Amino acid sequence: MQKSYILPFPITYAMAATILDGKALAREIRDNLRKQVKSLTEKPGLAVITVGNDPASQLYVGGKEKAGIGAGYHFVWKKYKEDTDEITLLSEIDKLNQDKKIHGMIVQLPLPKHLSPFLIIDAIRQEKDADGFHPLNLANLFLGRDAILPATPKGIMRILEHYNIPLAGKHAVVIGRSNIVGKPIAFLLLQKDATVTMCHSMTADLAALTRQADIIVAAVGKAWLVKKDMVKQGAVVIDVGMNKKGDKIIGDVAYDEVKEVASAITPVPGGVGPMTIAMLLENTLKCMEVQKKLSTR
Ligand code: NAP
Repeated sequence: MQKSYILPFPITYAMAATILDGKALAREIRDNLRKQVKSLTEKPGLAVITVGNDPASQLYVGGKEKAGIGAGYHFVWKKYKEDTDEITLLSEIDKLNQDKKIHGMIVQLPLPKHLSPFLIIDAIRQEKDADGFHPLNLANLFLGRDAILPATPKGIMRILEHYNIPLAGKHAVVIGRSNIVGKPIAFLLLQKDATVTMCHSMTADLAALTRQADIIVAAVGKAWLVKKDMVKQGAVVIDVGMNKKGDKIIGDVAYDEVKEVASAITPVPGGVGPMTIAMLLENTLKCMEVQKKLSTR
């Protein structure tokens, strides 16, 4: 079992913010997965499809490959050129759908503009959808049923759970409404009885809303958008953003100043990012279990 921490929440006086260490938690999860995988007769298989040479995607998939192989997974990286057409990709997905050694697959987003992400993701078998982006998996999430959950929101929930951060009755403000982070995390928080406000680029007064938040999730892609004066004393701040600044990756939250008022905060890097990879591996194992169950029916 994972260790858990008791977080002093809510905080009514100034004290150092707890650093929500996603890197350490992800390592613990990967170690547990490695042990589980060792005890299996078959390796879980994860395939990643990339199209083009987007440097960020290459870096992220490299991290997934390292973590997957490190945890004892069978890892396959299918690399396609930028000008690959939909038919070629769909036929690769079809092959992977039928490949018994592959239990989970993902298509690394974003795809080049000439490809429809909806068409491509829809082609993945629901039980092999390790990213949890298939419409049926998202529908199950929406309905509160057992689902393969999108890895980043699942990782955020795991951090909140690990650090015993109360959610019921709390006001969570989610900044960003993407299908892969903003919308799913809002539903997961709602399922845990938080009162959720969703913000986006057309939100009239973002700071007025974030100042009311007990929990802020920033998933925007704008470096240091969330400043200290936008955060209530004692709020928990989850920073999903990964923005390039020179050769560094920085978050959507101005970490150094916000940690002076937050009771707990995720760093970037070392917060949500490593958890996303750990959850992808966990999802692949879940995909494998679901397929085993289906094959015995
Ligand atoms: P996305 O699809 O580009 O969505 C960004 C969202 O932010 C949109 O809903 C947009 O509103 C909103 N937004 C933009 N400017 C805003 C502003 N000034 N105020 C309030 N909302 C604003 O991005 P995403 O895929 O969700 O990713 C968000 C960030 O998380 C990126 O930095 C990405 O790299 C990072 N990310 C990290 C991980 C990880 O594992 N750590 C995983 C996924 C993503 P509209 O809808 O109105 O346009």
